[in-house]
Amino acid sequence: MRAILRISVLFTLILSFGGCMKKTVIEKMPAAQVRKELDKFAPVDFRMDLSYLDPKEVDVIRHLVKASQYMDEIFLRQVDEDNAKFREALRMMNEPDAGVYRDFFNLMFGTWNRIDGNRPFLDTKSKPAGAAFYPADMTKEEFVKFVGTHPEKREAFESNFTVIRRRDGGLVSIPYSEYYKEWLIPAANLLKEAAGMTSDSTLKKYLQSRAEAFLSNDYFLSDLIWMDLSGDIEAVIGPYEVYEDGLFGYKAAFESFVCLVDHDESTRQKAIAASLDALEKALPMRAPGGDSSRGTASPIKVVNLVYSAGDTKAGVQTTAFNLPNDERVRKAKGSKKVMMKNVMRAKFEKCWLPIVRTALAEKDLPRVSFDAYFAHTLMHEVSHGLGPGILKKDARETTVQRELKEAYSVIEECKADVLGLLTAQALVDRGVFPKSLESTLYATNLGGLFRSIRFGVGEAHGGGVAIQMNVFMDRGACSAGPDGRFSVDDAAMKRAVRELAGELLRIEADGDYEAAKAFIEKHRYVRPEVRAVLDRMTNIPVDIRPLYAIEKEIR
Ligand code: ZN
Repeated sequence: MRAILRISVLFTLILSFGGCMKKTVIEKMPAAQVRKELDKFAPVDFRMDLSYLDPKEVDVIRHLVKASQYMDEIFLRQVDEDNAKFREALRMMNEPDAGVYRDFFNLMFGTWNRIDGNRPFLDTKSKPAGAAFYPADMTKEEFVKFVGTHPEKREAFESNFTVIRRRDGGLVSIPYSEYYKEWLIPAANLLKEAAGMTSDSTLKKYLQSRAEAFLSNDYFLSDLIWMDLSGDIEAVIGPYEVYEDGLFGYKAAFESFVCLVDHDESTRQKAIAASLDALEKALPMRAPGGDSSRGTASPIKVVNLVYSAGDTKAGVQTTAFNLPNDERVRKAKGSKKVMMKNVMRAKFEKCWLPIVRTALAEKDLPRVSFDAYFAHTLMHEVSHGLGPGILKKDARETTVQRELKEAYSVIEECKADVLGLLTAQALVDRGVFPKSLESTLYATNLGGLFRSIRFGVGEAHGGGVAIQMNVFMDRGACSAGPDGRFSVDDAAMKRAVRELAGELLRIEADGDYEAAKAFIEKHRYVRPEVRAVLDRMTNIPVDIRPLYAIEKEIR
């Protein structure tokens, strides 16, 4: 296996297993190589000013951070049951590069490099697809067979909130509330204490019900209540995403976000919400204002992150999340999209600007701004809710997604990007965004296209971006200069954006699968001029690594 070839250095550590001292040798990747991987993540100090809050609410936040640290502990064990031992071994490691291993281990939540196909940098064990949610040697077939012969156990086995273990020659499911109680009980106590302190009645209800869920293993009610949070503190804590379970996608990983609502953005949100009808009517499509309903609404909330824990903090950092995932809650109350502005700003500064400085012509660099980047990202999300959703085709009711099949996600991501520009411009014209945004909107967006293409054009977003880049170049909206750097012609760009929006909306409105495929086929490729820019981008961080000052303060 390729992982073994790269591991050449040995170190010896004394580990304590179950009370008896045992000498264990752990293989590891050379420190210089681990440092190179670690340096792909630019460290960012997330320090929030809490001074405007009531001291009691600051105490609530401290409690939430402490409770979140228990989510770190649980998630570490959800990834690999040996992780606590590895962490202890690294803590005792006494050599100049120990910190590099510790930092990378903490970032990856274990011994596997999440941005390099889970290649191990410590130890030689490869990562089981089902992480530690299932026995490491259990196959998919064994699980399916067991559930088939024990139908009464299916629900508990497929539950988002149980682990599967071997017992007496068979398999058993154990509820999280039982299996992880060592951490869930103290976390629940902290949430209850915080609930007792806060003067925000919606947060109080959420924290109380979530504390109960930690003990009862029933998360439904607290998920419902979370939708109603309306105070300054936006917190979410518990088992949510199922990506870590690569075997079945059943098991939820523990995580936490402790955030503060951004009031200026909330005010703007209301203005955007009030403009939605006008934005829909102004879309460049044949039958504007048709049925664009997509079921329940998904409100957007803009916040600043104070602390994150568990699943979300492992590897690439989350900038926005859409929760809850429970379909019953989504049916009853929809879901909530939360965008973390300070995380986005950090990524913009550390990972975007270096790319943009490589890609754009000198004259366009002053026309790049975080505000334009943020406005476009926000309007990208809003734009997913604009345009055709439910369709009538041959007298049957269907959806754009169903008709466009596997071509849908590329077309839809491209649409959201292009409508994001179109609607941001419309909101400048309506006075919702400041006039000054217009001068930076298009250059910022062009710079951003390079960032997305850098990660490949195979997945939906990169594919959508390649389409835009090629259409914009075909129509003279942007071009490479003699030095290979790109500049944008705002007037031509505005025209190209409107035309491209019209073409994408037509494909969606017709639910035209063949047209969608042909459109993607024609435009999804990387031109030599673009490739040349990408080739110049070396040593630019791929992501950020959060450092939280508040951890030290609450010790
Ligand atoms: Zn999107």
